[in-house]
Amino acid sequence: MELTIGAKTIIDKLKDHGYEGYAVGGFVRNSLLGIPVLDVDVTTSATPEEVQEVFKDYKVYLTGLKHGTVTVNIGGECVEVTTYRVDGGYQDNRHPDSVKFVKNLSEDLLRRDFTVNAMAYDGESLVDLYGGRADLKNKIIRAVGNPTLRFQEDALRILRAMRFASVLDFEIEPSTAKAMIENKSLLKSVSVERVFEELSKMLLGDGVERVLTLYKEIIFEVIPELKPCDGFFQNSIYHAYDVYIHTVKSVALSKKDRVVRWALLFHDIEKPSCYTVGKDGAGHFYGHQKKSTDRAVKILKRFKADNFLISNCSALIMLHDCKTEISRGEIKRLLKSFGYGLIKRLVDVKLGDALSHASPYAEIRVELINDFSKKVDEIENNGECYKLKHLKINGNDVKSFGFKGEEISEVLNKILLDVTFDKIPNEREVLLDRLNYERSIRK
Ligand code: ATP
Ligand code: MG
Repeated sequence: MELTIGAKTIIDKLKDHGYEGYAVGGFVRNSLLGIPVLDVDVTTSATPEEVQEVFKDYKVYLTGLKHGTVTVNIGGECVEVTTYRVDGGYQDNRHPDSVKFVKNLSEDLLRRDFTVNAMAYDGESLVDLYGGRADLKNKIIRAVGNPTLRFQEDALRILRAMRFASVLDFEIEPSTAKAMIENKSLLKSVSVERVFEELSKMLLGDGVERVLTLYKEIIFEVIPELKPCDGFFQNSIYHAYDVYIHTVKSVALSKKDRVVRWALLFHDIEKPSCYTVGKDGAGHFYGHQKKSTDRAVKILKRFKADNFLISNCSALIMLHDCKTEISRGEIKRLLKSFGYGLIKRLVDVKLGDALSHASPYAEIRVELINDFSKKVDEIENNGECYKLKHLKINGNDVKSFGFKGEEISEVLNKILLDVTFDKIPNEREVLLDRLNYERSIRK
């Protein structure tokens, strides 16, 4: 395990002044797993005032003084140094009523959520009081101490357990898992921002399918709108799974992209409310794209998600069933309306969705989507014209032919449409001729 230069400097200096200093939490966990770690959190026996005194010649930021955290800047590397502490009582299942500084590392480690997060390392030896190393080896997330009490103290830990299980692809130890499910209703007291942050990380993990399946009741606690999907039989030759399982598989089989995975989580959310049976006896879900889009936007707004995520998910869910066997011209129209970045994400959404369909439709669709994706890339890489900026004439040219106001963009868009569908080439001379013609027919 290799400490960063900043963390090593801090721990050595604390020791020189007679205090203890250890790297803790994510750094120790990920280093033992061989995962690169960017930042190191340090825990120390020194009080925040003593830490400030030891590092008086450095830049020190009093970032979280009331939790005992001081940030020390060592040559640009910012390390959070937190005094050994235990949390006071928890009235609200989330925020400790008070924080008490303590003198022992063991007490500090005891307050930490999971055994794999409760190890400390000072550059020489590893302190592992709760079997974190063995749990890492066996790929287990286990609460430190009594799981019920730990989740009652802070319900966010329920989602953290799921997040770590997903990201590390670990199992959750049975009594920890049982306590999570039993205490799921306490998640109501956790802020939407924290719930959203944990879910966002959880969605990107290798173990996401298992976590969203085994702990679906917890997911329905924070996103009740997904519950009707659970067990909803699709009655369709295209589907082998109920709506929820299909959803979860589509997430797990898609590219690890936050926008793509959030969009897939909600892409069919309103299928149950749109279900009808056709004359052929098969299930149909007319209109579920629009209804699912509206529902997703509502949920993401409730989570106070960023506008980029909301607007992109909205477009992706709306488009998720659009045809891919379309002409190059039609692909260019899509690119004009939504941009290359979103259309590439649409490819990823469609692939996740297709892969979780029944065989052989899954394979057939994947091939069609890959073909579509190839054409999208060709259009982009060849610099083919699909938006006004690509046209070899601009607004000034149109003006010089006597067009004014709204006419200018009207004429440009008309010409763009013809170029897009290869009716005329994107050559300046040709387009100027075309402007001349447009003027003559409007006089
Ligand atoms: P990452 O930074 O990759 O999300 P991390 O383990 O560093 O993982 P942080 O949220 O940065 O997670 O927290 C640092 C450490 O603080 C954790 O490893 C854990 O020991 C402790 N910790 C964080 N949140 C809680 C909590 N809600 N309850 C108990 N201990 C916690
Ligand atoms: Mg961290």
